[in-house]
Amino acid sequence: MTRRYYSPSLPAAGGLVELMDQEAQHASRVMRAQVGDGVILFDGQGHEAEATIQAIDKRTCVCQCDPPAAVDRELAGPLHLAVALPKPDRAKEMVERLCELGVRSLTPLVCERTQRPPTDALLEKLRRIVVESCKQSGRNVLMEIRPVRDFQAYVDQPFEGRQWMAHPSGGSGPIAEDFAHGTPVAAMVGPEGGFSDEEVARAEAAAIEKISLGPRIYRIETAATVLAVWLAGHRE
Ligand code: SAM
Repeated sequence: MTRRYYSPSLPAAGGLVELMDQEAQHASRVMRAQVGDGVILFDGQGHEAEATIQAIDKRTCVCQCDPPAAVDRELAGPLHLAVALPKPDRAKEMVERLCELGVRSLTPLVCERTQRPPTDALLEKLRRIVVESCKQSGRNVLMEIRPVRDFQAYVDQPFEGRQWMAHPSGGSGPIAEDFAHGTPVAAMVGPEGGFSDEEVARAEAAAIEKISLGPRIYRIETAATVLAVWLAGHRE
C-alpha cells in the first residue's frame, strides 16, 4: 500500500511540497522512506495527490506532487458526536475508531458527573491521532476535534438535523427512513456516572431524543463506537 502523508495545503496545479515536521520525521525515521519513493499526500479537506519524494533527511521531506483530486470516502451525511471523554488512553483508542468510522466531528462534553475535564494537551494529542488514523484508513477529511463544551452550552446551540442522547433507558432509536439521506445527525454519550436526571430533562426540553444501545451498559468509548457504527450504517 502506498504510504500516505498529511499536508494541509497542496498546490492546485501540483508542484513541490515540503512536509511538516512530524510528517517528515515519520517518513524518514519511522517509514525509512527514500528519494524516488511514491507516496500519496492528502490535505485533510477531501483531496489527495500522487507524489514522489525528491529529497529527504531526518527533519525534512520534499515531494513533487501531481495536481490534487477530490476523493470522497466520507459518509453520505455528516455524523457529529459529543462525548464526555473517558481517561486519556481510552480516549485515544476511541478517537482512532471514530475517525475510521467516518465521524465528522467530536465535541468533548463536560457534564455534571464529569470527573476531570480534558486538557488542551490531550486535545492536541487527539488531533494528532486523527491525522494518523486518516493516513492509515485512507480518509481524506480530518475528523474535527472541537473545543470542550459544557453540556448546557452544547444542548443550547442550534443544530439543523436530528439529535440523540445515548441513554440506557432510551427508546429503540432511528430506523433508516427516520432521516433523509444526507441530513446531519448528532448524538451525545455521557460520562462514567451517566447523564444526570437534570441533563436528561434539559435534553428532552431541547427535543433531543433518548436512544438505547441495548440491554447491557457499555463503557463510554464502547458506547461511542457502537453509536457511530450504528448511525454510520444508515449513511454509507
Ligand atoms: N450508570 C450509567 C447510566 O445509567 O447512564 C452508565 C454510564 S455509561 C458507563 C456511559 C455512557 O455510555 C452513558 O451515559 C450513555 O451515554 C452510554 N451508554 C452506555 N451503555 C448504553 C446503553 N446500553 N444504551 C445507551 N447508552 C449507553
